[in-house]
Amino acid sequence: MGEDICHGLSLRQLMLPRGLEQELTSPGSRSAGDWTRVMAPPPPLPTAASTPILHGEFGSYPPHGPRFALTLTTQALHIQRLRPKPEARPRDGLVPLDEVSGCGTLQSRSPSDTAAYFCVYTYPRGRRGGRRRATRTFRVDGAATYEENRAEAQRWATALTCLLRGVPLSGDQEITPELLPRKPRLLILVNPFGGRGLAWQRCMEHVVPIISEAGLSFNLIQTERQNHARELVQGLDLREWEGIVTVSGDGLLYEVLNGLLDRPDWEDAVRMPIGVLPCGSGNALAGAVNRHGGFEPAVGVDLLLNCSLLLCRGGSQPLDLLSVTLASGSRCFSFLSVAWGFLSDVDIHSERFRALGSARFTVGAVLGLATLHTYRGRLSYLPATTEPALPIPGHSLPRAKSELALAPAPAPAATHSPLHRSVSDLPLPLPQPPLASPGSPEPLPGLSLNGGGPELTGDWGGAGDAPLSPDLLMPSSPNSPKTAQLSPIAEGSPEMPASSGLPPPPLSAPQASTWGPVDHLLPPLGSPLPQDWVTIEGEFVLMLAILPSHLCADLVAAPHARFDDGVVHLCWVRSGISRAALLRILLAMEHGNHFSLGCPHLGYAAARAFRLEPLTPRGVLTVDGELVEYGPVQAQVHPSLATLLTGPAGQKRRT
Ligand code: ADP
Ligand code: MG
Repeated sequence: MGEDICHGLSLRQLMLPRGLEQELTSPGSRSAGDWTRVMAPPPPLPTAASTPILHGEFGSYPPHGPRFALTLTTQALHIQRLRPKPEARPRDGLVPLDEVSGCGTLQSRSPSDTAAYFCVYTYPRGRRGGRRRATRTFRVDGAATYEENRAEAQRWATALTCLLRGVPLSGDQEITPELLPRKPRLLILVNPFGGRGLAWQRCMEHVVPIISEAGLSFNLIQTERQNHARELVQGLDLREWEGIVTVSGDGLLYEVLNGLLDRPDWEDAVRMPIGVLPCGSGNALAGAVNRHGGFEPAVGVDLLLNCSLLLCRGGSQPLDLLSVTLASGSRCFSFLSVAWGFLSDVDIHSERFRALGSARFTVGAVLGLATLHTYRGRLSYLPATTEPALPIPGHSLPRAKSELALAPAPAPAATHSPLHRSVSDLPLPLPQPPLASPGSPEPLPGLSLNGGGPELTGDWGGAGDAPLSPDLLMPSSPNSPKTAQLSPIAEGSPEMPASSGLPPPPLSAPQASTWGPVDHLLPPLGSPLPQDWVTIEGEFVLMLAILPSHLCADLVAAPHARFDDGVVHLCWVRSGISRAALLRILLAMEHGNHFSLGCPHLGYAAARAFRLEPLTPRGVLTVDGELVEYGPVQAQVHPSLATLLTGPAGQKRRT
């Protein structure tokens, strides 16, 4: 696919002259676990950064092409051309495992060909920076018989799959199929309404091929309406799954999370690893996952590909949650933010520009700046006893100062025609929600995306031993998005609801959670707060309480935040700030260095709990970008309550 047409129009692009834009990335570096239940316990980090695991000489496909020396290390596949002419500086010689989705073995259709083939699915970045799929196929022909060559190809596929999934290997270890971890089973929920309504299409085009190449099992369901995902996970048999992944913005994950916590067995349910693949207009968590994985900032399809690659690697992080009590006393759970003022106004009022994708926030911000409102309110918080870690040089926190940002999307009231589509590579029945609609999910005919050739049965990773032919080999294996197997499912774009326009859409009406952890830090709303709380009161332009670093894929509101730092990052902007200064803060937030602006109107505090009391009678309040009832609200952090599928932590800056 060409240049990503869905990239959001950033404020910087809109307002800064060309040339002032900078590239900056600030990869986090933390350890990762694994598919929580498939592969316990998490493997130790390799002692040597790139221990050689396998080395061999292979031919290429078609068979008369060059010959290569291949070395597989814990970090990369090194490819060195040997013949016809050894390369002094190999052009495509290093394939970092970060760019590999999976691998497989193939067999020639010709009975006289005794070679086996080992192919690797990669997603390198092209000259323009975008990722493109590339299949590298190597001819394993060192032995006289096909069986021996196949065993060697499978040894390589086994080793590479193990490394991709975090199974530690050493150079002197015998590589056998028993080392392979069991396939994780993912429930993937797609919101056809998310972003510009392209989530299903993008999922079929990018996500399904990658997770199939990685050899993961999955059921993919398109949601029919708001709160459908919530109902689905409430009725889910959790033992069937190793993870629940949403393909949308942050709003669908919010549904999933609240569904998990609104179960009698919430304590187990909330430990279900959850993941996000960004196809919405607000992709904050995906932005944070992308950075945690060590990738450069990305939006649109690039962000989707990065997050898909990370997801396939396995690895999870504890995730802090906020328990948010609303004015009516109802409670919901947040993994992202509570916003009031400028940011929630932009989020909700830009709903009418949904067709613009993430650029709707830019347009909304410009309009919001033009008609800047202030709100009177009171913010009280229980300060965090320890300052959050500041792993990123240059992103120091000012004392009681910080920043703002734009937020994800609101809750539309739109309904959809029953487009309850599902795709699966699993024989399992799809989960039935307690309130299943007449069009309950029907698994479509098996995709057999993991091959099905006689050589490679489906019980281990890789794309399978499909018969080798130019057709199957090049645009690739059965997993190609263009395969006929997939085409019947992609039955055109889902209907888009009419633009919601103003006034803002009605409340997302998330049913209040009746289960979940006790908020031991919070007295009832309306009751006095303990003495160790701090209170500020005045006129504000905005208030933001945020858990992870990102507020959008390309807005880093709390650059020092970690998924499990146990604190909520409170940011506010007091009235009196000029439009230019507010704009500067927003622009600086693109790279997360807004703290260094020294803006006197900007405030920051790290807290364990907070209470926000709007004193202006009308306004917009959002939780994770979803509109909630307006009025006093309070929240407390529940450290590491959930589990987020992040993939391995990035150790270094990647290109
Ligand atoms: P975006 O970032 O584009 O806003 P979200 O993931 O936040 O994407 O989803 C937007 C809204 O769509 C959320 O409120 C979510 O609950 C809702 N939603 C989920 N599934 C559907 C559906 N099938 N039809 C309409 N709305 C849906
Ligand atoms: Mg949203």
